[in-house]
Amino acid sequence: MSKPPPNSPKQRKRKPLLAPEAYLKGIREGDRVLLGQAITLVESHKPDHSERAREVVEACLPYSGRSIRLGITGSPGVGKSTFIEALGMYLIEKGHKVAVLAIDPSSKQSKGSILGDKTRMTRLSADPNAFIRPSPAGESLGGVARKTRETILLCEAAGYDVVIVETVGVGQSETAVHSMVDFFLLLLLPGAGDELQGIKRGIVEMADLLAVNKADGDRVSLAKEAQRSYRNALHLFPSKESGWNPPVCLCAALQSEGIPEIWEEVQKFQATTTQSGYFQQHRQEQAKYWLLEFIQEKLAQLFFENPAVKEQWTEVEHKVVSGEWSSIKGGEVLLKFLSL
Ligand code: GDP
Repeated sequence: MSKPPPNSPKQRKRKPLLAPEAYLKGIREGDRVLLGQAITLVESHKPDHSERAREVVEACLPYSGRSIRLGITGSPGVGKSTFIEALGMYLIEKGHKVAVLAIDPSSKQSKGSILGDKTRMTRLSADPNAFIRPSPAGESLGGVARKTRETILLCEAAGYDVVIVETVGVGQSETAVHSMVDFFLLLLLPGAGDELQGIKRGIVEMADLLAVNKADGDRVSLAKEAQRSYRNALHLFPSKESGWNPPVCLCAALQSEGIPEIWEEVQKFQATTTQSGYFQQHRQEQAKYWLLEFIQEKLAQLFFENPAVKEQWTEVEHKVVSGEWSSIKGGEVLLKFLSL
C-alpha cells in the first residue's frame, strides 16, 4: 500500500504518540490538552493507542483515587446539567477542581448531544478549574463504562478532586455508573411518582441521595409533597450495606438553591463511611468487579475475533438452527478454537 503524500489530510490528522512519561508529566501539571489527548487514547480502538493508553493509566494510578466520585442521574429534562453546573460552580468557589464525564451509550444516535455537551454548562465549561468530557460516541455500554472508569483515574491524577459522572435515568447505564462512583444522586421532578417519572425502582434503591429539583415558584408545595412521599417510600427499602440512610432534599438548580445542603450530605456520607471502612471497601469491591468485567470483555473479543471462529460461524449456526446440533454442541465446537 502506498503512503499518503506528506501533508495530505490523512497524514496530518494522525498525531504522534508521546511517551507515557510525557503524558503523565503533562497530566500532573494540569495540562488540559494532554489530559484530553490521553483520554482520546483511552477511547481509541487502534491497538497502538490502546496499548499506550494502558501505560498512561498505569502511570497515573499512584496519583489517582484522591477524589469523591459522584454519580448523577435522572430523566431527561429533570435538570441534570443545570444541577451539575450549579454544584460545580459552588465547589470551584470552595477551591475544588471538578471533572464532569458522561455515560450515554446511545450517543451515536443522538450525536453525543444529550449528555456532557459543553453548550449546556456554559459557565462551568469556561472555568479553568472544570474539565468537561462528553461520552465517547458509538460505543456499547460496556465499552463506554470501562473507558469512563479509566478517564476517572486520569482526571484524578490531574488533580480533579470531585469527579461527576452523569447519565440519563432510563436504563442500564445507572448500574454501570453505580459501579464506578462513591455516591449516587438521583434527581427527581416535583409531584410525579417514580413510575410516572419513568424511573425504575432499582434506581431509587441504588441512590444515596434523592433531590427533588425545580422546587421553585408554584411548584414548591408539589415538591414538598414529593419529598414526603419519597421519604415514606424509602422506609420500605432494605437498609443499605453502607449503613447510610439516603436523605430526600429539595433544590432549585436554576437558582442554585439547596446546593450547599446537598454537598453537606455528600461530605457527611464520606466522613461516616470512611470512618466505618465502607468507603474503601466499596472501592475495593468495584476494582474486583472491573477486573472481572475486563476479563469477560477480552475473552469475548478473543473469541469473536478468532479467524477460525469467524470462518466456521455460519456453518455451525446453520447446524444449530436446523436442529442437527444443539446450541451447546455448536458452542463447544466453536469454543475449541479458542486455545488460550
Ligand atoms: P437535563 O436534560 O436533565 O440535563 O435537564 P436540563 O438541565 O437541560 O434542564 C431542563 C430544563 O429545566 C431547562 O430549561 C432548565 O432551565 C430547566 N431547569 C433546570 N433546573 C431548574 C430549576 O431548578 N427550576 C426551574 N424552574 N427550571 C429548571
